[in-house]
Amino acid sequence: MVRVSYPYEAPVSQTLFDRAAAVTPGGVNSPVRAFRAVGGTPRFMVSGNGPYLTDADGREYVDLVCSWGPMILGHSHPEVIEAVQAAVARGTSFGTPGEGEVALAEEIVARVAPVEQVRLVSSGTEATMSAIRLARGFTGRAKVVKFAGCYHGHVDALLAAAGSGLATFALPDTPGVTGAQAGDTIVLPYNDLEAVREAFRAHPGEIACVITEASPGNMGVVPPLPGFNQGLKDACAADGALYISDEVMTGFRTSRAGWYGVDGVAPDLMTFGKVMGGGFPAAAFGGRADVMAHLAPVGPVYQAGTLSGNPVATAAGLAQLRLLDDAAYAKLDAVSAQIRTLVTDALTKEGVVHTLQNASTMFSVFFTGADVRNYEDAKTQESYRFNAFFHSMLAQGVYLPPSSFESWFVSTAHDEQAVQRIADALPAAARAAAEATAA
Ligand SMILES: *Cc1c(COP(=O)(O)O)cnc(C)c1O
Repeated sequence: MVRVSYPYEAPVSQTLFDRAAAVTPGGVNSPVRAFRAVGGTPRFMVSGNGPYLTDADGREYVDLVCSWGPMILGHSHPEVIEAVQAAVARGTSFGTPGEGEVALAEEIVARVAPVEQVRLVSSGTEATMSAIRLARGFTGRAKVVKFAGCYHGHVDALLAAAGSGLATFALPDTPGVTGAQAGDTIVLPYNDLEAVREAFRAHPGEIACVITEASPGNMGVVPPLPGFNQGLKDACAADGALYISDEVMTGFRTSRAGWYGVDGVAPDLMTFGKVMGGGFPAAAFGGRADVMAHLAPVGPVYQAGTLSGNPVATAAGLAQLRLLDDAAYAKLDAVSAQIRTLVTDALTKEGVVHTLQNASTMFSVFFTGADVRNYEDAKTQESYRFNAFFHSMLAQGVYLPPSSFESWFVSTAHDEQAVQRIADALPAAARAAAEATAA
């Protein structure tokens, strides 16, 4: 980690962080929130309104994280809040079926053609874990192909990214995941169809599924090369494996039908989360009706959840999706393009070598001159420049993801005033990136 001194302070956040660290490992409930990559004090947020967040020290930020994607309409959208308040007033959980979950499932099925049936869960992790179990149950096969740098939640079998080269059997990335749990996972380099074909040649009839981020956003934004997703689908179909597209991040963000709406490649199974929960824990997996028919109670593959289809979460998600019409996506496109241009112009002006990549409205900056096509490429960036850039933006009231391996997110609430604040902060941040040195 690069040691820098921070010319501004966040004393109330620091006090809360100290309290948190006493009772919670690292003071956070999800590791990236701890600012380990960039250093400094994580900001404890107390409220959000439109494109802005306010921290415990009373400082306001333009938010370019949007809760890692869910807050696509900005914070505290009045119609979403109203739907939530109405749902809460009727009771918060019944443990029975309810109309809200039917309406949300209908909305998903109507938007995303390959989804004939869908089941609701509470997190993206649960969605991918369940989709993989279903794929294994449906095919009667054990092996799973994933790509280095793609994140699918903290599912044991998917926390393996080690080993480059063809068909490397993954070693678990983390203590607590055993060789047995990760041993059926094959990790391949992203955007490398030949590696995929080689894996199918090496393990004919053994691969249950290939799971991929529809367009990866968890190693920074690294879109699939033209034909990559179609190639995955074809390779799976030829061998009788299932093609699973993880749209937890891209779903209902990159278009009204997510990344499927961009590239039109129909997966066998898909996973969703983030935007569809409207800021609450709601996620889903779905796809071909004949595959979904293998799930309990109609089929033998077990999957369940006490709070699945929760009435408050489904009310929030449904209200948010119903507001996401063509005009909303046009607005997201415009504001994303505007910010991308501002960022790249500011960095270019200071002579900072960088590559800004986007997938529809998702984007990120890599501090490298190369095209970033996979995780190995992403790791060649000069992350110390991002850290200096990040802290300059933070000091000036712009909240970026606290890591150079994350997507930036915009919302329909990012108006001219919010964009102007970003524009005003960029020159100094670009200068800080230019002047940064590796520790
Ligand atoms: C965020 C994310 C997940 C995990 O979702 P959680 O709700 O954090 O469990 C899975 N896949 C992708 C592509 C994600 O971006």
